[in-house]
Amino acid sequence: MARTLPRPPATREQSLRVQDTVCPHCGRATWSAYVSRRTVSTLAGVTALRVYVRCCRNDDCPRYGRPCRPEAEGRVALPQHEFGLDVVALVGALRYQQHRSVPEIHKDLLGRGLTVCERTVTNLLDRYDELVAVRLGDGTRLRGLLAAQGRVILAIDGLQPDVGHEVLWVLRDCLSGEVLLARSLLSSTEKDLAELVEQVKRDLALVGRGKRGRRSKAGAEPGVPIVGAVSDGQHSVRNAVARALPGVPHQLCHFHYLREAATPVYEMDRHAKKELKKHVRGVRPIERRVEARAAAGDDQAQAVLGYCAAVRSAVTDDGRPPLDASGLKLHGRLTAVAASLDAVAAAKGGSRPSCRS
Ligand SMILES: [Zn+2]
Repeated sequence: MARTLPRPPATREQSLRVQDTVCPHCGRATWSAYVSRRTVSTLAGVTALRVYVRCCRNDDCPRYGRPCRPEAEGRVALPQHEFGLDVVALVGALRYQQHRSVPEIHKDLLGRGLTVCERTVTNLLDRYDELVAVRLGDGTRLRGLLAAQGRVILAIDGLQPDVGHEVLWVLRDCLSGEVLLARSLLSSTEKDLAELVEQVKRDLALVGRGKRGRRSKAGAEPGVPIVGAVSDGQHSVRNAVARALPGVPHQLCHFHYLREAATPVYEMDRHAKKELKKHVRGVRPIERRVEARAAAGDDQAQAVLGYCAAVRSAVTDDGRPPLDASGLKLHGRLTAVAASLDAVAAAKGGSRPSCRS
């Protein structure tokens, strides 16, 4: 039965931007062109995608005016698809690994909160079959398209619907958005993944050649090179790319890249915070000493309690490194407390005792 209810509203939002803002053909900076909005049903919920599309504005470039879509878009969903690639991977796993029937898969998807009709499950299963059947060597359309494009930026994504399931590895071209190879693997070692990359490399090397390996055009150099790779930077993928595509630049997803770059900053900041905290221990005994006087209305004692509260809140406050480092924040706040104490001491004509005493 077809779906009788409209698709539920999006429960989450995701913005996707092009990571490489340089035209892959002419090397000039691309311009922001438009924002395309897509709503995709994924296992994590109905996602409203904001896709920031760029394009080359160099009149002499063959890619002039052609859209450059974010590299990560193909990981979320196939072009023009209403359902996420993770849902397609799950449907395939349920059918071929767990041998479930279409009504059973339908029930499973409903149980995961997806609004889907039974006929769509059949369509999703067809998409899965098509995906794993894609073979670059066989498709004239794909070969023609890639030959005209002249280069490929390879994205490698592993989709694991559930822990313990096989992983669906999808190798696609970021420039055209076309899937070049998809395989479901139980083990995803460096060797297994390198074989997939090499398969694509072999197929691409034959693009532009005639059926018997002859060059199709006199003088034309056959084969389409892989000029770059994009992945989430998982170790096995990184090693596989290094093995199968030596010398080809491999870009990690920006989120993972930033996270890795931030690790040393985070460690240093944590250490600084720990060291700073050592200097302001013993707030509680000071508080205890003046509590009675403060309760009796002594101004000086109340001021001391105020300072103690300031130090206490500075020590317990946390930040979000690396952009909002808690060690730096603590340093700033303690410096402010110390400056204030110095001002009080100067007004009284004495000097501030050291923090440790
Ligand atoms: Zn260009």
